[in-house]
Amino acid sequence: MAAFESLTNRLQNVFGKLRGKGKVTEDDINEAMREVRLALLEADVNFKVVKDFIAKVKEKALGLEVSKSFTPGMVIIDIVNKEMTELMGGTQSKLAKANKPPTVLMMVGLQGAGKTTTTGKLARLLQKGNHKPLLIAGDIYRPAAIKQLQVLGEQIDAPVFTLGDQTSPVEIARAGLQHAKDNGNDYVIIDTAGRLHIDEALMEELKQIHQVTKPDEVLLVVDAMTGQDAVNVAQSFHEQLELTGVVLTKLDGDTRGGAALSVKAVTGKPIKFAAMGEKIDALEPFHPDRMASRILG
Ligand code: GDP
Repeated sequence: MAAFESLTNRLQNVFGKLRGKGKVTEDDINEAMREVRLALLEADVNFKVVKDFIAKVKEKALGLEVSKSFTPGMVIIDIVNKEMTELMGGTQSKLAKANKPPTVLMMVGLQGAGKTTTTGKLARLLQKGNHKPLLIAGDIYRPAAIKQLQVLGEQIDAPVFTLGDQTSPVEIARAGLQHAKDNGNDYVIIDTAGRLHIDEALMEELKQIHQVTKPDEVLLVVDAMTGQDAVNVAQSFHEQLELTGVVLTKLDGDTRGGAALSVKAVTGKPIKFAAMGEKIDALEPFHPDRMASRILG
């Protein structure tokens, strides 16, 4: 996969060197960790995250007396793989479910991150699990957003609730939720407005929608291509609005990996889904272990 290519190549290089050695000294490990550190920084992983990560791997590598192993390269790869999995949340983080349906999922994020597209994809995934999601068109500011959601809804035969672009998103969310209750939809997914930058008016509106709908999940949609910026955005959203998880989009693109590797550590919120393309089916539950193996190549 194109994503992580450079990081993967660099890490393979480091491990290749270790594999070639019959014996690995402490110096070799230190040298390897210096290179892993650089590779991660170049992949735009948060500085502090890199520092902690390297410290942990080093401690384990030295503790395990890798130097005495016959396959030191393999042992170190294994340690890196496990730590990377932990860094991204350890185990897969499942979607919350309301005690009493409908379960409310609120999608937030900057404009262009992929909120509307992801709303459709998530509905598709839920349908595959025999659920009946209702999509709520709460982005009344971006000119084409409502239509875009309706087209997605038609594509997968999922109902889309809209009151046009003249009613407040808070009212739309409230009415949409009632509509779901009246019509037996067990999930609602609220598409909300994004801006190019985080601003107060946007946050205020999101907070009000939150108050009115009491979502079971507030999912921040972030564009993986934006690396560190994605993580900063996540942190700012999290300070204002209690996020429950992250959806990473555009992992099919030429991302360097920084967002995937940093966002959980920085915000404390797990990546729940990964989007890998523009098509409606291009959304998967995020598995930290699989992603780590992918990155390590
Ligand atoms: P919103 O402003 O956050 O609602 O963003 P949109 O859902 O309109 O998405 C913005 C653009 O990103 C659209 O052209 C989408 O097709 C594209 N997009 C969304 N998710 C992905 C993805 O996972 N991969 C790729 N390649 N493109 C995506």
